This record gives sequence, structure tokens and C-alpha cells, in this order.
Amino acid sequence: MLTGIHVSLIGGDARQLEVIEQLIEMDASVQLIGFDNLQTIPNGVTRTKLTPEALEHADALLLPAVGTDDKGHVVSIFTSEELVLTEEHIASLPKHGKVYTGMAKPYLTELCSRHGIGLVELFDRDDVAIYNSIPTAEGALMMAIQNTDFTIHGSNSIVLGMGRTGLTMARALQGLGSTVKVGVRRPEHYARAWEMGFKPFYVKDLADFVSDVDLLFNTIPVLVVTAQIIAKIPHRSLIIDLASKPGGTDFRFAEKRGIKALLAPGLPGIVAPKTAGRIIAQTLSHLLMEDAGKRRNDA
Ligand code: NAP
Repeated sequence: MLTGIHVSLIGGDARQLEVIEQLIEMDASVQLIGFDNLQTIPNGVTRTKLTPEALEHADALLLPAVGTDDKGHVVSIFTSEELVLTEEHIASLPKHGKVYTGMAKPYLTELCSRHGIGLVELFDRDDVAIYNSIPTAEGALMMAIQNTDFTIHGSNSIVLGMGRTGLTMARALQGLGSTVKVGVRRPEHYARAWEMGFKPFYVKDLADFVSDVDLLFNTIPVLVVTAQIIAKIPHRSLIIDLASKPGGTDFRFAEKRGIKALLAPGLPGIVAPKTAGRIIAQTLSHLLMEDAGKRRNDA
């Protein structure tokens, strides 16, 4: 249980509703900032403005998936007010307080390190990334279905990268009856891809493997689907780039060649906010309990 633990949430999207529910179930004290438009708030939850004083007792501060932008703005679908997290806010957190977010921009990283405040990037964790790969792959399949006039079954697909997202993507495509080629850069990934029934190749040889591709999913966060590659892709193909912005595709050249290429960021929060919220909530609760245990042992 999280009895006696103070958690402040600033902004976010539908995922936060699931987190709030779970925190309350675990008896945490929950304070909401930037949730003015939320019609009803659960019993025992408080709502306040973003001030340094409001954060003085926060054991944990939960920010949205992308913590802040480069100037400290925090996105909230629950308010029309501008939320800006400043140095004063971070400085007012208790010394043992921690900031939790999906991923942090340098602005937030620097603020936290300047004030000795722990920063946890939840999406960096293997467990969270693997759980999140499930709604990501489902969202990518949804986009593939919506943007093609052929079935995934019987298609030739390519997945670039065999990390946490790539592996789930490749297995989902295989499960639907696609012939899946997987682009890797390590021999051990090549061997694993072969063992799993995919057709592996090395990413450096990508140009030799695209001539019959129907669906190309990229998970590599550097430019790999270059103009030279796109020049060899059939016109019917669809490229779905899952890598974080700006993706790994030369979108300008794809458009010029008339090949549909879509950058698809943030799919878990879009296609399955409840599941995505639960993934965050479960990991956060676990980490908060661990921290509370450590504090008790140190006391
Ligand atoms: P990951 O586990 O680190 O996998 C990345 C893969 O890219 C690994 O296989 C890695 O190979 C490969 N790679 C990296 N640089 C490469 C290069 N220069 N050449 C060849 N291969 C390279 O990451 P992930 O969790 O799967 O996430 C992948 C991307 O998707 C990230 O940008 C992440 O932010 C994004 N993402 C997007 C969504 C969405 O909704 N669209 C959801 C989740 C994640 P090695 O294993 O050899 O390093």
C-alpha cells in the first residue's frame, strides 16, 4: 500500500486517469495540478494550482509521457491554462522527492540534476518498454489496415530493429500470416530472428531486401529508410515509422515518389490509454513502494 505517500500529478492525458485510480486504490495522497476541466474528482483527491508551495510535500511528482518541452511547458488535456514547470518548482520538492515521467528533455534533466532530485524515465525501463510495445504494435497494425487495400495475411513485411518494439511488431505480423523480414545489426539478433521463423538480414544490406515489400515498419531511431532505399520500394508499399520523432525515414523523398509514409508517435496513449495508463500506474506504484521501504530502512 501507499499509505502516507504524497503524489502530485501535473498535466497529462487519459492515461493519468488510470494512474489516479490506481494510486487511490493503494491509499496514496493524491494532488492534481492542471486538471481544472475534469468534471468530477475522486474522493480524497485534492486539486490545486502549480506553485512551489504545492510541491513542498510531494514524495513523487508525476509528469506526462513527455515530461516538459524545452522551455518547461507541461501538456495537459485537462486544462486550458498554461503549465510551466520552473526551477522554483523543482527546488521546492523535498530532498527525497522524485520526478517521474515517460521521457525527459534536457530541460527537465538539468533542473533535476541541479537540485539533486531523482528523475525516473519510465519509458526507458525494459519492463515498461516491453509492455508498451503491445499497444504500439496493435496501433501500427490498425494504421496498416486503415491505409492499405490488401490484407496483412499474405503480405511481405519488413520490421527494422529487433529491440523491444521491433520484436513484438514482427511477432504480431507473423501471427496474422505475413511473411516477415527483420533487419538487425547484431549476429545474435540475426540468429534469434531466424530461430523465430523470421527472415533476418543486416540493416546495412536493406537496399537488397525491399523490392517486394508491402509493409515496412521502422523502429530504428536514426535515418535508415533513406532516399536510396525508398527509390527501390514498390509504389504500393506503406511505410509506418514507429521510431521517436523525427523517425528514421526520409519522408520528403517518400512523398516526392508517391509512397505513403506515416510517422506514428505515441501510439499506446492513442489506441489504448487505459492499458497504457495501467502500465505506468503499476510500475509507478512498485517504485514508490520500493522508495518508501528504503526510506523506512534508512530512518
Ligand atoms: P530498443 O529496444 O532500443 O530497439 C531499438 C532497435 O534499433 C534495436 O534493435 C537497435 O539495435 C536498433 N538500432 C539502433 N540504432 C541502430 C542503427 N544505427 N543501425 C541499426 N540498428 C539500430 O527501442 P524500442 O523500445 O524498441 O523503441 C524503438 C523506437 O520506437 C524508439 O525511438 C522509441 O522511442 C519508439 N517508440 C515508439 C512508440 C510509438 O508509439 N510510436 C512506442 C514505443 C517506442 P541494437 O539492439 O543492436 O542496439
